[in-house]
Amino acid sequence: MTEKLYDISGRIKDFDCLVLRCDLSDGKYLIETDKTAFFPESAGQCGDTGTIGDAVITDTVYDGDRIVHISGSPLEVGKRYSARLDYAPRYRRMQNHTGEHIVSSVMHRRFGFSNVGFHIGEREMTFDFDGVITPEQMKEVEDEANEISAKNVAVKAYYPSESALAALDYRSKGELDGRVRIVEIEGVDLCACCAPHVERTGEVGMIKILGFIHYKGGIRIRMKCGFDALDDFRNRISREERISRLLCVPQEETADAVASLSSALVQAKREFSEAKKRLAEAIAAGIDSPDKNVCIAVDGFATDDLRYLCNLCAEKCRVFAALSETDGGFSVVCVSRKVPLRQYAKIICEKGKGKCGGSDLMLTGRLAAGKETLIGIFEEEII
Ligand SMILES: [Zn+2]
Repeated sequence: MTEKLYDISGRIKDFDCLVLRCDLSDGKYLIETDKTAFFPESAGQCGDTGTIGDAVITDTVYDGDRIVHISGSPLEVGKRYSARLDYAPRYRRMQNHTGEHIVSSVMHRRFGFSNVGFHIGEREMTFDFDGVITPEQMKEVEDEANEISAKNVAVKAYYPSESALAALDYRSKGELDGRVRIVEIEGVDLCACCAPHVERTGEVGMIKILGFIHYKGGIRIRMKCGFDALDDFRNRISREERISRLLCVPQEETADAVASLSSALVQAKREFSEAKKRLAEAIAAGIDSPDKNVCIAVDGFATDDLRYLCNLCAEKCRVFAALSETDGGFSVVCVSRKVPLRQYAKIICEKGKGKCGGSDLMLTGRLAAGKETLIGIFEEEII
């Protein structure tokens, strides 16, 4: 059984270990050692990475009861190696995990809700509760959690005896078997947890709830703590600076500027649509060829605009088609009240190099042939 150095302290990052097993499985080496500071993926927290000797450890997992380090390189069984943990990402995970314990303890004490799900991902941490609170209550939870962080109280982990454990009132995510490890935040929380934590709450730094949603009858919280919260804040500032430069307004006015830009865009779209309708009506007014097939190309028309134009011209020609150039081809609408159109869809698709379909009264499609070819098809092939 591997000795868990991360149980003794979350600060251990360099250690020596003896390789007990090194098995090849699916092209990866599974390395078991007499002791390790690498935390294996469990309790919602991903496995640690680092090096053992020259072998780069890309993950650490449980294989049954065994802790195995995963590497692309083998190590010699029976030999001792120096090992080093990738400590910066692990420290961030500890900040987040202890932050989660603090928030969960506040939620439990204030509202009686339990943490029923937890995951520390690459980008952020999520955790779930079996009850719902309001945004105002969430702000109070966040304030209290940050006060606990600022008080810098001790965080301790230990395995109580069975009788001592029976006397403890601690939180846990479910039925526990084997020895129970308690993580205690002094005067704040007792929780069953196997993961490494920071040693004092001050190390958690800022606890920032990014948002929460209703989830399975309760809520799911998104949160970042410590250096992850700092990075998030930096990224938000740089995005806000960019938006501020793009809109030419001070940063505190960006939201108002986006709102007025958005309503100006809605107005511009409405005016553009009206202008296209007037253009369609002007085009239709100039068309009067009841016995001829007419096909015209119009710039900037979407399929709906082409359909509007075609309906205006349906009675004015034998066949009327309108095209508008879009990304690498043409949107096409064709109407007729005199020729059943559906029988021509196949030849239009073949010669027009695209897709086209609809009813005997109207065909719509996207065709990749050139403009002159398409005009030729609609004016000469539909007989
Ligand atoms: Zn935990």
